[in-house]
Amino acid sequence: MMSLPRSEFPLLAASPRLVYLDSAATTQKPRVVLDAIRDFYENDNANPHRGAYELSVRATRRYHDARARVAAFLGVRDSDCLIFTRGTTESLNLVASSWGRANVGAGDEIVVTAAEHHANFVPWQQLALERTARLRICELEADGSIDLDRLRTLLGSRTRVVAFPYVSNVLGTIAPVREIVDLAHGVGAIAVCDGAQAAPHLSVCVDDLGVDFFAASGHKMLGPTGIGVLVGRRYLLDAMPPFMTGGDMIEFVEDDHSTWNRLPHKFEAGTPNAAGAVGLAAAADLLQRIGMDAVRTHERGLVNAAYQRLAAIEGVRIYGPAPEHRSGVLSFNVGDVHPHDLATILDSYHVCIRAGHHCAQPLMRRLGVSATARASFYVYNDDADVDALVNGVMAAREMFSRVGA
Ligand code: PLP
Repeated sequence: MMSLPRSEFPLLAASPRLVYLDSAATTQKPRVVLDAIRDFYENDNANPHRGAYELSVRATRRYHDARARVAAFLGVRDSDCLIFTRGTTESLNLVASSWGRANVGAGDEIVVTAAEHHANFVPWQQLALERTARLRICELEADGSIDLDRLRTLLGSRTRVVAFPYVSNVLGTIAPVREIVDLAHGVGAIAVCDGAQAAPHLSVCVDDLGVDFFAASGHKMLGPTGIGVLVGRRYLLDAMPPFMTGGDMIEFVEDDHSTWNRLPHKFEAGTPNAAGAVGLAAAADLLQRIGMDAVRTHERGLVNAAYQRLAAIEGVRIYGPAPEHRSGVLSFNVGDVHPHDLATILDSYHVCIRAGHHCAQPLMRRLGVSATARASFYVYNDDADVDALVNGVMAAREMFSRVGA
């Protein structure tokens, strides 16, 4: 595919010089998504599920329709098993808190990888501390990949959970999901997949992956902030206690106890983010129209070009696997230039990259750095953006070598 025209993205259209290379943090929003949100508020806004009047029925219908479209995009046949949350962080906390507290006890083991975003690390660490369970960390190979033999050695009869990122937000490494799921199921553990960096960039069919839980964020896939998904297996969700309690998630509230609504409502306490869901569905539709294979091919071209050209600059160190084994994420350092300084200099060239630990401090420790620079590509980026990145990095290197001289 060609890149999507910048004119489809009001923020990019309004800033023709801006080179946005921070889509792994959040993506820019296309007009179709903004229009869908506005259309919901202008034409169908009411509190879903609450009213008997026609307008509320319309709002409810749009919310349900959004769920069905997002489920179709993610390859989830039973859309009742797709719960709308605020995002990946909330989804993973929901699993660790609700499933975890009910199923993990003293002496049990939880396996995570060293590539985890804090959102799929800290909830499990805290659960382990609370339950006096053991958190085991699967170390990575030199290129950042997850080695299945190494993972196998960590699994046993006490393993309850294997949590892993489908795609690393730092290294872009793509995990062998089905093999990890088989290993987890082989010891009777559940497989929890952080799909935040996968759903926007790869063709994902959650049902086919075999994972027990899958989490993703709308804002990283052209959708609005404040909306994301948790997909879970029905028998697990049915058996789990609610995460939050309140309106909408109950069946009956007696004075001394309550019973719970059916899925997905049991896990959606309070007024739902219906406009967010409508916006996310519009984003999913757009990605589906483009085709996720085309999205992947486009990103591969960009990341490959950026990788080759940055690697050729003296002093540049790129972390993670070869470009063909990664999604559209490139973490790097330039000599001993601090990534924050690098990002500031690139900003003066209107190039937006991320600098920091990327919410992955355990991984940073293993890389032996406190921070990296990170460029990430998406559907609106093109070759000119790669040129701007490379030119900016060369200018920064030049600047610092003069200062150092
Ligand atoms: N997991 C990964 C791999 C991520 O990249 C991110 C966001 O950076 C998250 C989880 C958390 O997502 P959110 O902040 O949308 O909850």
